[in-house]
Amino acid sequence: MTASFVIPTLIQPSLAVVGEERTFPVRRIWCVGRNYLDHIRELGNDERQPPFFFAKHADMIATDGSTIPYPPLTKDFQHEVELVIALKSGGADIDPAQALDCVYGYAVGIDLTRRDLQTASRKKEQPWEIGKSFDLSAPCSAVRRASDIGHPTQGKIWLSVNGERRQSGDLAEMIWNTAEIIAKLSRQVAVAAGDIIMTGTPAGVASLSPGDSIEAGIAGIGTLKVRIA
Ligand code: MN
Repeated sequence: MTASFVIPTLIQPSLAVVGEERTFPVRRIWCVGRNYLDHIRELGNDERQPPFFFAKHADMIATDGSTIPYPPLTKDFQHEVELVIALKSGGADIDPAQALDCVYGYAVGIDLTRRDLQTASRKKEQPWEIGKSFDLSAPCSAVRRASDIGHPTQGKIWLSVNGERRQSGDLAEMIWNTAEIIAKLSRQVAVAAGDIIMTGTPAGVASLSPGDSIEAGIAGIGTLKVRIA
């Protein structure tokens, strides 16, 4: 007997893979809260606090070339370009020395944020979901395989809006590196194949308006284009 469900099931969200016909199925989306000193300073946050994780849902992915409606409830919709880690395996309490073995590849992502709602929820000591977790809040490029490019620890990371550079940083400025992030997250939850991790943004986050064209990229990994409707 085949399994059946009383309502339609989720269509598996997935990302293209460069050089591969098959796609990368997304299981969970985790994001690192603070991982570049210049961005912590621009938002006036505590530099000594360790990074922490929040989540978006897998079906909040927006693939390369997507048009994203300006989201409801906000008057300050912002971009955060980030290195994305895509996992092919996982576990709990992963040793940092073994963590890179879990990586399938890397991508360019944008952690779209309703900054006014995030700031308000933080002040009220409420969860961040209203500011961070909403439809199409996780644009993500095609995945580049680690077997092709290795594990990048440096390289330009940038984002432009309507051709004007807004964010410009380097992966070398990340406070916590890829292995440390995977190891740390795996102490909080068991991570698994299909999980992606957005690793934090450099300085230069700013507001988006309807009609904006966003282009983002990371040297050696790729580019990502989306438009705000
Ligand atoms: Mn972010």
